Amino acid sequence: MTLAVYPGSFDPIHRGHIDVAERAARIFDQLVVAVYATPQKNLLFGVHERAEMARHALAHLDNVRVAHYEGMTVDFLRAQEAQVIVRGLRMAYDFDLEYQMALTNCAFAPELETVCLFTKLEYSYLSSSQVKAIALAGGDVSEMVPSHVLSALDHKLARS
Ligand code: ADP
Repeated sequence: MTLAVYPGSFDPIHRGHIDVAERAARIFDQLVVAVYATPQKNLLFGVHERAEMARHALAHLDNVRVAHYEGMTVDFLRAQEAQVIVRGLRMAYDFDLEYQMALTNCAFAPELETVCLFTKLEYSYLSSSQVKAIALAGGDVSEMVPSHVLSALDHKLARS
């Protein structure tokens, strides 16, 4: 059985992430979408909110579960007894970062493989930071995120 982990900040999860998770779930026996608690980023949502939104967005996938973690991604994979790290690739810009990360993870855990899935063209411009920036400016992000994420964004931004 191949267990893969799809790690990320997911702040918040959007349609590009969902597409990668759906495709990875078809390739691997089990997929854990792993929400990284403390990335070096300006977060809008807490880790439990991000995990809950991801859980709701991926509830239609039987072989996918959502977890959250702190510390090294490779340590999380070892604890889960997973073999594969899944990442999504958008533009060439992502490649350099993902390559660097894959090499770093390989240095710490050579037994793990990183598998990158290319984004679909329609999601190639999508990022969580863009979703947040557009929502903050009052723009319409309903095509970019599921409806429960849209409500969470409305709620969060109305309060901040
Ligand atoms: P990070 O892991 O850098 O904090 P994210 O949580 O935004 O970033 O993304 C998690 C993973 O999903 C990364 O591999 C990222 O490249 C990928 N990803 C983000 N947006 C998209 C998209 N629109 N299409 C495909 N993959 C994406």
